[in-house]
This record gives sequence, structure tokens and C-alpha cells, in this order.
Amino acid sequence: DLNPAVLLRQTILGMSRNDQLRDVIEKAPVSRDVVRRFVGGVTNQEVLGVASELVDTHRLVTIDYLGEDTVDPAMATHTRDSYVTLLDALSEAGMTQGGTVEVSLKLSALGQALGKDGNAIALENARVICQAAANAGTTVTLDMEDHTTTDKTLSVLRDLRQDWPWVGAVLQSYLYRTEQDCRDLAHEGSRVRLCKGTYKEPESVAFQSKADVDLSYVRCLRILMEGQGYPMIASHDPRLVEIATVLAEKAQRGADSFEYQMLLGIRPEEQLRLAASGARMRVYVPYGEEWYGYLMRRMAERPANLAFFLRGLATK
Ligand code: FAD
Repeated sequence: DLNPAVLLRQTILGMSRNDQLRDVIEKAPVSRDVVRRFVGGVTNQEVLGVASELVDTHRLVTIDYLGEDTVDPAMATHTRDSYVTLLDALSEAGMTQGGTVEVSLKLSALGQALGKDGNAIALENARVICQAAANAGTTVTLDMEDHTTTDKTLSVLRDLRQDWPWVGAVLQSYLYRTEQDCRDLAHEGSRVRLCKGTYKEPESVAFQSKADVDLSYVRCLRILMEGQGYPMIASHDPRLVEIATVLAEKAQRGADSFEYQMLLGIRPEEQLRLAASGARMRVYVPYGEEWYGYLMRRMAERPANLAFFLRGLATK
């Protein structure tokens, strides 16, 4: 494929797997400042500071401890413990009550890929985190990963919701199956984050064109807004944000019966505008030692961000 956008995306994704480059970027003294726009720090203390700034500016927060795809049980345990320590610290800082700051989890980071027992291990680890969240008075959302994990993740979700009905799901509008999943999950008390989806998926399971993914997003959004659950609109797309606002009005939803969500560092003025309009606006904040892969995926999604990043490296 000689499409320049596709080539650039492939180059950046190649960079994300290049350990030498990773070393250079991680060690460059400048990186810290530049990385800070999209990543909420490396340590608990740093991410607490970032979350506190967001809360002070009337935004809600969901924090993701970066550590995808582990095939090492010790890493899965480490990730689980990091979440528990983080939730305790957030609670002590008074930031969790009523779900002001919650956490997002990737089951692959909690051991989902660890052979035949992987799903059970991830479920057990997620249970420990949900209990810590319950103690802190906040909620948990299960991120959605590639399509081979969708059924497994929804089954973990069902198990967790038996004890903690506030556990949130994520559905991706690029998958053909998602309209039906939205119908299944649009019931009372059900928190559902709708996003477009970020993995490279085959035509057999997913829409390939932006137009089709966007149309599917609107169909899914309509189901969620007209349902009884709590829709979480995760998109930076101005058209979809506007459509969500209209659909919420049509469904006569109050401002506290749904929320908008965006990633840290992306369209911050729009985040502030939505928050000032009285809407609930939540910012997704990734943090931890494993920030490099996350950052490179964001760059691949939008090469304009890469220019920003490289400018920072060159001039600082
Ligand atoms: P895009 O199609 O990427 O962009 C549409 C328009 O939005 C652009 O034309 C532009 O106008 C605007 N825009 C986008 N990016 C920028 C930018 N950097 N600066 C300025 N304008 C911009 N994916 C998953 O697969 N699983 C998950 O669990 C998951 N969780 C997420 C949680 C949150 C809170 C968010 C926001 C996203 C999540 N995603 C997840 C990622 C998501 O699936 C998309 O890959 C990502 O959000 C990009 O899609 P978009 O809706 O923003 O629209």
C-alpha cells in the first residue's frame, strides 16, 4: 500500500517496536515535558498531581496504569498491586468519592493471555481491584482490546457486575457486532463507553472505512441514549460530540445521566468547554513506566501529534 498516510502510520508503529529508539527518547531530558501532554507521568505521585489539576478544572478522570499484553504472571500481579496502591492513594487524597476519579483496566495487563487459565487469572486480579475501588467509593471500567478478546472481556464484565454493578464496559463501533452488544448492555445502571476502536481489525469482523465506522457510532449511540443505561461518549470527533448532545436532548436525559470522555492532551479546550456547559466530561489519563508504546500509538493515529512531539525534542 503506497498511500502516504498508511506508510507514515506503519513507520510510526515500527518506531513503537524499536527498542533503541525507545531508549533514546526515554533518556532524552526533554522528553519528560513533551510526553507530559499525553501521559500522566510515571509514578503514582505524578499521576495524582495530574488528576488533581483536572478535577480542579471541573473534569472527571479515569486512570489507566500502562502495561498491556503481559504473558508473565508476576507482571500481572504487579499491575494489579499498582492499581490497588493507586486507588488507596487517590482515596486518601479525597479524589475518589462519587466516582470523580476512577480507573480503567486492560484485562491483557492482568493476565488474560496467560494460557488456558488466563481469563480466570485476569478475573481474579480484576476482582481485587474492584474491591479496592468499592472501598474508595469509586468505579472501574474494563477497556476493550482486539476482537479476539471481546467475548472473554464481556464474560468477565458479567461476572464482575454480579458483585459490583457499576463496572463499566467499552464497546467499539468499528465491529459489526457492536449494535447488538449495545442493545444487550443498554439496561438500567449499565455504564457503557462507546468508542470507534483503535486496533487493526480484519474486514470479516469490522467496518474498514471511516464513514462506516462513524455511521455505526451514531446507530450505537442512539441505542445507548434511548436505553436505560449510562452512556459514556469517548470521542474527539466534533461531529459525534454534537450528535451525542442532540440525541441526549431528544432522549430527555439530564446532564448527570451520561458523560463525554477524551484522552489526556487531546482537544483540551473542547474538554473545558463541555465541562463549563454543565456536562460531565471525563479525561482518560494513562501513566506508568510503559508509556512509550501508548505514546507511539497516539502518534500513529494522528501524525500532527508527531510534529508536536519532534518539535519539542528539537527545541528544548
Ligand atoms: P477520529 O476518527 O480519530 O478523529 C475524528 C476527529 O476528531 C478528527 O477529524 C478531529 O477533528 C478530531 N481529533 C481527533 N484527534 C485529535 C487530536 N489529536 N487533536 C485535535 N483533534 C482531534 N479504543 C479501544 O479500542 N478500546 C478502548 O477501551 C478505548 N478507550 C478509549 C477511552 C477514551 C476516553 C477515548 C477518548 C478513546 C478510547 N479508545 C479506545 C480509542 C478510540 O477507539 C479511538 O481510537 C480514538 O479515540 C480516536 O477516535 P476519535 O473518536 O477521537 O475520532
